[in-house]
Amino acid sequence: MLLHFADADSDFESSYFVIFGVPFDGTSSYRHGSKFAPDEIRKASYNLESYLPEHDFSFRNVKVHDMGNIGTLDEFGNAEDVIESVYSTLLSLEEKFPIMLGGEHSITIGAAKALASKSNVGMLFIDAHADFRDSYLGNRYSHACVARRAYEYLKGKIISLGVRSASEDEVIFARKIGYKWFTSYDFRERGWEEVIKEALEILDVEKIYLSIDIDGIDPSFAPGTGTPEYFGLTPLEVKNIIDFLGPKLIGADIVEICPPCDNGNTSILGARFVQEIIAASVP
Ligand code: MN
Ligand code: MN
Repeated sequence: MLLHFADADSDFESSYFVIFGVPFDGTSSYRHGSKFAPDEIRKASYNLESYLPEHDFSFRNVKVHDMGNIGTLDEFGNAEDVIESVYSTLLSLEEKFPIMLGGEHSITIGAAKALASKSNVGMLFIDAHADFRDSYLGNRYSHACVARRAYEYLKGKIISLGVRSASEDEVIFARKIGYKWFTSYDFRERGWEEVIKEALEILDVEKIYLSIDIDGIDPSFAPGTGTPEYFGLTPLEVKNIIDFLGPKLIGADIVEICPPCDNGNTSILGARFVQEIIAASVP
């Protein structure tokens, strides 16, 4: 039997939650290796309890299916091909709740494209980086351009949380078009609850897709990532955000975990976020 996420052993038909991996890291700019993350997150999930006491929630009582990975790096080709695979996979899931395990962040462009056809949906985007370049090293589908492409697909219905790294051009362009992001310093000064409430007010949508670039969290907590950036969010702040969103959530991804850069803890955090997303958003 193929490796699957712990307790994700229900069949596809009867499951609302569907996990799949996208082991692609073709545009990574600094440290490669996020292609190994989907299976490392699955392995890490077996170290966690099947019960979350703070939610009084047992994973034995919810139906979760793990589809496995939707391709291999050899099969994937370039980022544009991968984004198309993600897009068609998400369309095939229809009203199910996708949980996508990256891979690098460029795969989220496929999610934004799939969400564009739904009404009343916005994206929250946890990331250290603005990811707001129009293109990077000649590639408009690079992991440095994800928020920019999502902004286009979602007609502005996206807000980034935890940003602390951006080029001057990204800042100038974001200001020009009125794109709002919240920095990790906003979280320190105002607290997570005030920030998330304001973000939801600005988005003004009923349903949220959450993209978690693991580098949004401080590298002292989550060292296993390709482009670490200090002064970040804490894992507990991200947990609080997930719990606050609750059933507003309709899908999520966890990307940019890089097992070769990790001591193992970052994959465990990724697995714990998968659990949290399910526990918080079960209908
Ligand atoms: Mn990113
Ligand atoms: Mn990032």
